[in-house]
Amino acid sequence: MESLILRKKFLDFFEKRGHKIVPSSSLVPEDKTVLLTSAGMQQFIPYLVGDKDVMEDFGGRHLASVQKCFRTPDIDEVGDDTHHTFFEMLGNWSIGTDNNGEYFKEGAIKLALDFFIDEVGLDKNKFYITVFKGNKDIPKDEQAIKIWQENGIPKERIKEFDEKDNFWGPTATTGPCGPCSEIHYDRGEKYGCGKECGPNCENCNRFVELWNLVFMEYNKNEDGSFSKLSQSNVDTGIGFERLTAVLQGKDSAYETDLFLSIIKKIESLVGVKYKEEIKSLRVIADHTKGAVFLISDGVTPSNVEQGYILRRILRRAISYGKILNGPEGLLISLAKEVIEKYEDFYPELKENKDNILSVIKEEESKFEKTVKKGTEIAESLLEKGDIKGEDAFYLHSSLGFPLELIEEMASKKNRKIDKEGFQKSFKKHQEISRAGAEKKFGGVGKGATVEATKLHTTTHLLHKALREVLGDHVRQMGSDINSNRLRFDFAHHQKMTDEEIKKVEGIVNEKIQQDLEVKKQEMPFKEAIKEGALAFFKEKYPEIVSVYTIGDFSKEVCAGPHVKRTSDLGKFKIIKEQSSGSGVRRIKAVLE
Ligand code: ATP
Ligand code: MG
Repeated sequence: MESLILRKKFLDFFEKRGHKIVPSSSLVPEDKTVLLTSAGMQQFIPYLVGDKDVMEDFGGRHLASVQKCFRTPDIDEVGDDTHHTFFEMLGNWSIGTDNNGEYFKEGAIKLALDFFIDEVGLDKNKFYITVFKGNKDIPKDEQAIKIWQENGIPKERIKEFDEKDNFWGPTATTGPCGPCSEIHYDRGEKYGCGKECGPNCENCNRFVELWNLVFMEYNKNEDGSFSKLSQSNVDTGIGFERLTAVLQGKDSAYETDLFLSIIKKIESLVGVKYKEEIKSLRVIADHTKGAVFLISDGVTPSNVEQGYILRRILRRAISYGKILNGPEGLLISLAKEVIEKYEDFYPELKENKDNILSVIKEEESKFEKTVKKGTEIAESLLEKGDIKGEDAFYLHSSLGFPLELIEEMASKKNRKIDKEGFQKSFKKHQEISRAGAEKKFGGVGKGATVEATKLHTTTHLLHKALREVLGDHVRQMGSDINSNRLRFDFAHHQKMTDEEIKKVEGIVNEKIQQDLEVKKQEMPFKEAIKEGALAFFKEKYPEIVSVYTIGDFSKEVCAGPHVKRTSDLGKFKIIKEQSSGSGVRRIKAVLE
């Protein structure tokens, strides 16, 4: 089935069954607490949590959409059969129905089976279902198990998993959440690991998750307990590329009409065979498509936020092209192909075509120069042997040549890079440029006053206290310090109550009184994050960063400077709490 027909079939199917069709929202969400739209439900969150009225805005409780999605965390998976950065999600929703209503679990499961079996003709015997096995707080989803069985799925093909795989939400520390059921499709033994396995197998991709059905029936409360919601929601999502691949009988979406002409174009322009360079060609195609859609939704390459993600995928695609000796301007030709392929369903691509192409062209020519010079140097170094740390560092820092690319080139020639040496050079360089870097990474610089230094440490305490009081969704969105006051912007949806403000002040003052020690440590950025240090996503961090811990209360990546002990700080007071844009709050505070 052609992909264009499949989208239409999906929407028609749900429209006929009483669903309002809602257009895809932008990849750049209105909700400023997240950078990009990563699921169909994103635009409906206010309705799912009850902040907005679905009847008022859509005139119905049942909705369906085809949503543009982008998942940065999946970037390393790109190249396998089932993950993309940009993909489309087909979804249907039932919002705010009572628990016994016709369209909760039973309605959702029946619709899903009808669509998959009767409408698009998938073989039911290849379905494996996953359900929530229950934990100390929430019972096993017996209801779903029963419904799947009543609808023709035998017990032995219904598998139970824990909350990691089969429980959704809440999006904050409190709010709606619930178990989910997924339909996995058995692609057959040839994709298997040779052992008897099933959905979520760690060793193979024989079973592919096609559709996730989330049943929001609980509310997580302030005290950590769960209660039944009186109004529940169904939220579902199908991976459109995965479904297209199965329906077209292909190993992956790259061989379907969603990608094939792009892959063929790369083959002919670069002069390589897809079968011989599967991963590289998949990455180039995926990233080019992602870039086209991001630019179309208003993103431009930069070093922060969405712009940084765009720059990263563009440069990564160009790098993969270079490794294969692809021609200059490769991405432009591919972007044209992407636009042509998608403009019928996404007319915004047609409207933004000139801009999309000129942004790619500019970034490509900027990066071309870098890569050309870097490749020449790297190649001549590789002729001689492994690459020394300081040489890799030179390529990286002076030329902006990606380490990834040096690694790829080296591995092709069976050579290595001295990574330890690279880190050493990095550190040395970092010390030299510390003063400059401090300003750039949110510090206040060597010339900071004593007051500013104190407010800097206070900001860390405030950040952690906000997370304790409001929830882990609180993230730093900006910070500004002068000798009189601190200003802190953070992701949060509502105005803080007086009580919340008091609580936050209380925690900060308690920590000040506890006279906690402020310690500094240097470590690779990745390790810091692994250890749970908070970082400020807006910034692009160097590979080795300073991490400041305050007692065992707070841990943050930061360039400093900071006081040595919290008792130096004085009394903390919040003087203002106000909005600073959609989904962002601003606090001004002082030390008295
Ligand atoms: P997986 O475990 O396979 O990565 P997921 O649990 O992250 O999937 P969900 O968050 O439930 O997926 O998203 C709903 C559906 O979207 C999935 O069932 C899948 O079909 C599809 N999907 C998820 N991530 C991707 C991706 N990176 N590329 C393409 N499709 C995806
Ligand atoms: Mg995933």
